This record gives sequence, structure tokens and C-alpha cells, in this order.
Amino acid sequence: MRPLSKKLSSIERSQTMMLFARAKKMKAEGIDVASLTAGEPDFPTPQVIKDAAIKAIEENFTKYTANQGIPELLKAVAEKFQRDNNLHFEPSQVLISCGAKHSLYNSLQAICNRGDEVVIPAPYWVSYPEMTKLVDAVPVIVKTSPANQFKITPTQLKKAISKKTKAMIFCTPSNPTGAVYSKDEILAIAEVVKTSGMYVISDEIYEKVVYDGLEHFSIGSIDAIRDQVITVNGVSKAYSMTGWRIGFLGARKDIVDAAEKVQSQVTSNANAIAQRAAYAALNGNLNGEVKAMVQEFDRRRQFLVSEFQKIKGLEFVYPRGAFYIFANVKNFIRKTANGLNIASAEDLCEYLLSKHLVATVPGSGFGAKDWVRMSYACSMADLQKAVGRIHAAFEKLQ
Ligand code: PMP
Ligand code: GLU
Repeated sequence: MRPLSKKLSSIERSQTMMLFARAKKMKAEGIDVASLTAGEPDFPTPQVIKDAAIKAIEENFTKYTANQGIPELLKAVAEKFQRDNNLHFEPSQVLISCGAKHSLYNSLQAICNRGDEVVIPAPYWVSYPEMTKLVDAVPVIVKTSPANQFKITPTQLKKAISKKTKAMIFCTPSNPTGAVYSKDEILAIAEVVKTSGMYVISDEIYEKVVYDGLEHFSIGSIDAIRDQVITVNGVSKAYSMTGWRIGFLGARKDIVDAAEKVQSQVTSNANAIAQRAAYAALNGNLNGEVKAMVQEFDRRRQFLVSEFQKIKGLEFVYPRGAFYIFANVKNFIRKTANGLNIASAEDLCEYLLSKHLVATVPGSGFGAKDWVRMSYACSMADLQKAVGRIHAAFEKLQ
């Protein structure tokens, strides 16, 4: 038998997707699992969006579209970038793809050559290093500190840059840490970016999900580095549209052309019906709905934070955005419970799932080995159930 791709032996499967699937399967088997795995808002997609999709089907809008995206959506995205982010793109500088995940991958394909380095602050979202390796570039992981709320400092960034550095992947609000960079922090990072000449792939998928009066700031809006930034966003999180698979990027025209070329050979256009739905999301006056969702996430965040503060030995960085809490479980490692030896955060997650029916994601996939990520995008009822079980599970480990 001929061997399969060598490259793939160094690529990890997405842990978030894997654990999400495992929890889903257990549920389908009738096991009452509380899943805090994937960051998937539990709200239904707003009705105007669903109506637009139904209308698209009824109008037989079910064929290939232009590879780049339908003109009205390209225009709506350009307007969204202007309105929300102070980013000035012509519709021709936008590319619609099959989820922000796809936009990130297309961005890396557009700019990377074999051996180029891509700086990735850790903890990172699981897919960044693996996508980087998939395009034959080299992830350069920069460990950030919980004392600095897991934010990369300009000094750390400067130190990570070499002649081979092509880009950095920057994510605010952050998955998995919930950190939100301030405008001043971003301005300081932009100074380093400018001097180095590298690109920034700015993942802003959680832009709308910020708390405590904080405001999201787009690094690409800084004049000095506008041309170096690829801004990635999508409709999955803000409009509860994870399954519709629409993401987009805005960038310099030649970068968009290169990304579009990749897409033209790999997937062609994103789903036609979902593009119409995404248009309705962006143009549907849904600020009220989005605000209500964020308020509900905030309620869940505060509940989780107050419950976790009661667990002796559990440390976490106060989340300011997105819908994850990232907790350090080192004080619970090397303990035993229910006959299980807990030697790592992975073992702890396995213990939580198999003995207490709470599904979480170990930090190893995010580049932080003693940590565990829990999503609070699930329903409040599930969250309450999960918290009760987590208390019981950790009490046994004391
Ligand atoms: N970036 C981050 C940080 C994410 O958490 C996710 C997960 N949804 C994505 C990108 C991809 O989102 P999409 O569903 O649009 O592919
Ligand atoms: N982004 C979500 C998460 O981190 C969904 C899973 C994924 O796309 O990998 O949980």
C-alpha cells in the first residue's frame, strides 16, 4: 500500500471539533452530557436571516455564484468594515469564503512560501499552528503570560521576528483566553509590525462579544499599517450562524486576488443560499438582537466566574470578551479520583467527561498545557448543570 501524506503526520486534528463531536455522540446515545466544548451560540439564527434563505431557495437562487461572492454581499461586507471597524475597502477588496476558518486558511495560502515563519501568540486558537503547517510555513509560538492577561507585548513580538517572518496571527477578543486588547496596546504592537514589514492576519470573529464597556479596535484601521493587515471576520458568532459557513476577509487588492485564486481552485464560491442569509444578517438592522445575545453571554460569564471563584485552587484570567473561560488546573493534577490517576489537564478533562458528564477542552490544543477551556455559549440550563457537576468533580480532587 502506498503511504499517505507525510505532512499530515505532523498535523493535529482540531481538538475543539473532536470533543464537540464526542459530546454530541454521547448525547445522541441518550447520555446526559453538559457540553462546554465548541464555541457555538445556543440561540436560534434570527428570523429575518432564515427568511432570506428560504426566499433564496424559493427564487431558485441555488446555483454557483461568482467565486468571490455575490455583489450585494461584497458591498455589504465593505460597508460593515467601514461602519464597525474604520476599514476602507472597495467590494473588490473583499472575499467571501466558507467560514472565517476558510478565510484564515486562504489568507495564509495567499502570503506564505515554504519555510516562512508565522508568529502566533500562545494560548492560541487550535487551528492557527496547524493551518500554518498546512501551507508549509513554520509556526513561531510566543508564550504569553497570565499576569499580562495573556496578551503579547511589543517586546515579545520584536524578539520573535526574524528575516523569515512573514506574518503574525492576531486574535482579539481572544479564543481561548477571553482577553481583549485595548487601542493603546494595539497601537504599540502596530509600531513593531510597521518596522518589520510583516503582515498581520487579524481574526476578529468575536468582535461583537465584548463586556464591561470595552470596545473592539481593529488593527487594520491604523493608517501606518493598513496595507499589511488582512482582516478576517464572519457571521458565525455574532448572528448565531455557525452552521451556515460564511466568513470573509478584507485586504489589499493583490492579497484578495491571491486568496481568491486559491479559493477558485479549491471550493469555488461559498454556499449561495447562505450568502443571501449573510447579506440579511449584515443589512438586517439586528443590533438589538446582537446586543441581547451579548447581554445573555455576559450573564453566563458572571455566573461562571462567581462559581469558579468558589473552587479552591482553580485559577483563571477574568474573561473580557468571546465566550470562553480558560482555567488553570495545575493544582488538581497528580491527584486521584474514582480510581483515575490525573496526571495532566487531558486526564482531568477525561475525568470530567467520563465520571461527571461535563465536556471541556484541554489546553494542550491551545498551546497551554495545564489549562482547560470551557465555553459558556451553551444554554444557561446546561451551564448550571455543568457547574454543579464541576463542583462535585473538583471536591473529589481536594
Ligand atoms: N477564529 C476563531 C478564533 C474561532 O474561535 C473560530 C471558531 N468558530 C473561527 C475563527 C472560525 O469561525 P467560522 O465558524 O466562521 O469558521
Ligand atoms: N471556534 C469554535 C471553538 O473554538 C468552534 C470549533 C472550531 O471551529 O474549531 O470552539
